[in-house]
Amino acid sequence: MSKRDYYEVLGVSKTATEEELKKAYRKLARKYHPDVNKDNPEEAAAKFKEINEAYNVLSDPQKRAAYDQYGHAATDPNFGAGGFGGFGDFGFDGFGDIFDMFFGGGRGGSQRRNGPQRGNDLRFDMEITFEEAAFGKDATIEIPRTETCPTCSGNRAKPGTPIKTCTNCNGTGQVQVTQATAFGRFVNVRTCEHCHGEGKVIETPCTGCHGTGRVRKNRKIDVKVPAGVENGSRLRVAGEGEAGLRGGSPGDLYIYIYVKKHPQFERQGDDVISEISLSITQATLGTTVMVDTLDGKVELKIPEGTQHGTSFRMRGHGITHLRGHGRGDHYVKVKVAIPAKLNGEQRELLKKLAMSFGEKLDADEKGFIDKVKNAFK
Ligand SMILES: [Zn+2]
Ligand SMILES: [Zn+2]
Repeated sequence: MSKRDYYEVLGVSKTATEEELKKAYRKLARKYHPDVNKDNPEEAAAKFKEINEAYNVLSDPQKRAAYDQYGHAATDPNFGAGGFGGFGDFGFDGFGDIFDMFFGGGRGGSQRRNGPQRGNDLRFDMEITFEEAAFGKDATIEIPRTETCPTCSGNRAKPGTPIKTCTNCNGTGQVQVTQATAFGRFVNVRTCEHCHGEGKVIETPCTGCHGTGRVRKNRKIDVKVPAGVENGSRLRVAGEGEAGLRGGSPGDLYIYIYVKKHPQFERQGDDVISEISLSITQATLGTTVMVDTLDGKVELKIPEGTQHGTSFRMRGHGITHLRGHGRGDHYVKVKVAIPAKLNGEQRELLKKLAMSFGEKLDADEKGFIDKVKNAFK
């Protein structure tokens, strides 16, 4: 495998000063850090490793001198000259740490991983009808989730087998690593690789969960959708999310409510709005109609001389108030329909009516109908 020249990797001349090397390294490390190259992480990681290796050698005067003299052969672990064989292995897995140094830190790398960890929250989307939103609904949903393994109670060991303290980290779950960087030696606390931060080592993994402490289950959960919920409401069911780790509490389950559109009803706050269509005679003379409401058909008296666009309130036929008692109202908006076609008799009757109002009628009857229409707009 042919290796690129270290000077070429860093884009500096063979006579570059320590300062120039550092500058080039920092610029490239920032550019190729895997965390900022999400599109092509593998290529970025390879580049990053190459840059680090080049810098590690060239920033050390002794290694640089050996490299200048012998080239890449000097990095061979078996290379004897100068007594620094073995610097071929740099173990660059500390991306997070270097990233912290450049970008201000505070990221996950330094987080303790062996403490209790809360389970993830889950989301469930539920579609309900307009009526179910108005009156509430008891539902049973089924969700796939991880639960604490019932066989080992989450401690990952086969029941009756020992759980030992990790000897690599003495049970702390962390080890100290000293790393040479552009800024000098850097002591870093890492998660113990032997026990993955647990501080404990299982000898025989639980067969119920393959040693993970958690199992996947389809769980049925009873959900009470309260009366009055709105489209887009989010219900929280505490503790019904995914199981926690190492004794951590479970996450929560969030139910997102989607209310289906109703063919007749619209919602405004806790009130229901609908429309009814009346003929000009019904609106003019008054009548009684049956109105569709959440409670079925309800009688509504239309008084004489009702105008187009008038709203009638039907108390208590609306949506249940989400918090507190009682219900909203149902508003019925009146649309007066103008007859599109009249027969001869009806036309004569209307003309008579117009004359009795003292209206001057155009010879053009279409114009008269338009007038009536305009009156209701
Ligand atoms: Zn188990
Ligand atoms: Zn350990």
